[in-house]
Amino acid sequence: MRIDIVTIFPEMFEPVIGGSIVGRARNQNAVEINLIDFRDHSNNKHNTVDDTPYGGGGGMVLKPEPIFLAVESLLQEGKRPRIILTCPQGEVYSQNKALELAQEDHLIVISGHYEGYDERIREHLITDEISIGDYVLTGGELPAMVIVDSIVRLLPGVLGNETSAELDSFREPLLEYPHYTRPADFRGWKVPDILMSGHHANIESWRRKESLRRTLLRRPDLLAQHELSPQDQKLLAEVKREEGAE
Ligand code: SAM
Repeated sequence: MRIDIVTIFPEMFEPVIGGSIVGRARNQNAVEINLIDFRDHSNNKHNTVDDTPYGGGGGMVLKPEPIFLAVESLLQEGKRPRIILTCPQGEVYSQNKALELAQEDHLIVISGHYEGYDERIREHLITDEISIGDYVLTGGELPAMVIVDSIVRLLPGVLGNETSAELDSFREPLLEYPHYTRPADFRGWKVPDILMSGHHANIESWRRKESLRRTLLRRPDLLAQHELSPQDQKLLAEVKREEGAE
């Protein structure tokens, strides 16, 4: 996969895309990540990329030319990449969207700044608008990092343990079960016996039940979207009894 990030603050990305799992994925050529400073595509001698809004009012608006030219410089003959605008007004990002985008060969992610974008960028350049949540940040760099990180870890071979992405929260609309590691007793707080029993079927069943419990208690809205198997329904009924939710 190739990901191009269009930004006026490329230096903000280096620590994130150079380290940890994303850095390793780049070293293994599982993903190519390029940083494009759209200031380099400004068509005026002061390299400005923003201007005052028509109609007046506060704040500066990102001009269309530098962003159009930067994105157009990345297009390849005959290919249609997904062009993503980071924007608090966009579709709220989710694991399903990350899975969908992880299937693509080429993504272009645009990080905004200031008051917002000239509307023609939204209307005539992009394929997707993504918000990472209902709050407003100063710029689109952190949202672009969130999007890139969540996609890269889904690419084949990137996570050492292939199952770890399979079992993540939201892979199904269920939250993940609780994890424990050594020591078995930490300050008197003990690891559940079943996890040390070595009985794989019982461990699997416990994990499934705890996953259902966690989702019921924290995100019941997710359970409503999920068609439960008869076995899950039985486990969920037990959880509800235990939690006094019946
Ligand atoms: N005035 C804009 C509005 O109300 O929609 C907000 C602009 S914000 C200060 C500047 C930039 O930060 C946006 O263009 C976008 O790139 C990014 N941004 C801020 N919050 C975001 C969010 N929740 N999700 C994605 N991008 C966000």
